Amino acid sequence: MNADVVVLGGGVIGLSAAWKLASRGLSVALVEKFSLYSGTSYVCGGMLAPNAEAKFTEPDLLKASNTSLELWSDFRNELELVSGHTIGFRDEGTLMVALERDDVYLLDHAKRQHEALGLKTEVLNAEEVREREPNLSPRMLRGMYCEDFQVEPPKLMAALIEACRKTGVHLFDECGDSELGKDFVKFKKTEISFKSVLIATGAWRVNREDAPKVKPIKGQMIVLDMPIPICEHIIRAPDAYLVPKADRLLIGATMEEVGFKRGSLAGSVMDLLVGAWEAMPSVYDLNIRELCTGYRPVGETSMPNLGPSRVDANVFYATGHGRNGVLLTPWTAEKISDHILKSF
Ligand SMILES: Cc1cc2nc3c(=O)[nH]c(=O)nc-3n(C[C@H](O)[C@H](O)[C@H](O)COP(=O)(O)OP(=O)(O)OC[C@H]3O[C@@H](n4cnc5c(N)ncnc54)[C@H](O)[C@@H]3O)c2cc1C
Repeated sequence: MNADVVVLGGGVIGLSAAWKLASRGLSVALVEKFSLYSGTSYVCGGMLAPNAEAKFTEPDLLKASNTSLELWSDFRNELELVSGHTIGFRDEGTLMVALERDDVYLLDHAKRQHEALGLKTEVLNAEEVREREPNLSPRMLRGMYCEDFQVEPPKLMAALIEACRKTGVHLFDECGDSELGKDFVKFKKTEISFKSVLIATGAWRVNREDAPKVKPIKGQMIVLDMPIPICEHIIRAPDAYLVPKADRLLIGATMEEVGFKRGSLAGSVMDLLVGAWEAMPSVYDLNIRELCTGYRPVGETSMPNLGPSRVDANVFYATGHGRNGVLLTPWTAEKISDHILKSF
């Protein structure tokens, strides 16, 4: 078959770019090596949280993140309309909490940093925090509220897959190893000729000399059943974060430089559970549903690699989104589809 654009990689970045390119009139095929239904984008936290994560040292990332956050509202409306799926958008925001005196200093530092960066934050005393989240530990000393958002990753992925289908993207799932030529990709018994290729393979670097350097930073997360909500906000405690979803609670996340090693270490799971339990003792009574692993695609800087290859004019990259791929999705989809459309 022929396509104007082949997208390699069916995570949130590849799918959103494929959808945008198809809705702007190009014929698009997307090739996923493993599975559209289990990768990093599928299992991650889904937080749209540039404020809680803001750092002085990453001004470009903060700017891109806030631009993307502004685009999220239209992106979400269009995605839900086209796909017919809701994506579990929530706006309760984040509560950062301090449990020890040292954490209070860190929170004060975060507050000064936020003020200097011109971000909206609200410092709360222990009583005010507990009014908002009564199940937080009585040990809690102080909190800070950030106006953040979140979506449901499996629902977001389902909506993107459906939006791709409805706009005519040809989706090829579980393709295994493929051969990438100058104007074709081959896998199993299929060959697709293309005018351009977009490489959106997350933490997996393709075998091309010009491919931007990217490495996997493994993140483990624990999923607990939560039949009755024990919190409404995203809670950022010193040693774990808690992300409430409709029927479950995510506890994350480790940061491990161990390549694509699979599995969950007992010690990491224990550290996350203790970190979450110290902030919110009622997690003790929730059933463990599953342990998840993902691989953050981390490049040489905190900014993603977006744009054309320095070698071939028909090769484009969208990789290296690190810990913010979901947040940066609308901004990335817009930018990379502009780059590709201009080349036609
Ligand atoms: C524990 C954890 C929690 C996180 N929480 C958040 C969060 O709350 N908010 C946020 O914004 N971000 C979060 N992130 C980061 C976010 O998940 C990533 O930045 C994002 O998923 C990256 O999307 P992607 O499409 O680039 O990569 P992926 O989702 O990894 O997709 C890349 C796809 O390419 C496929 N592939 C690889 N090689 C090939 C090939 N040669 N051919 C075809 N396909 C190929 C892979 O199988 C994969 O499916 C989190 C990450 C982790 C690990």
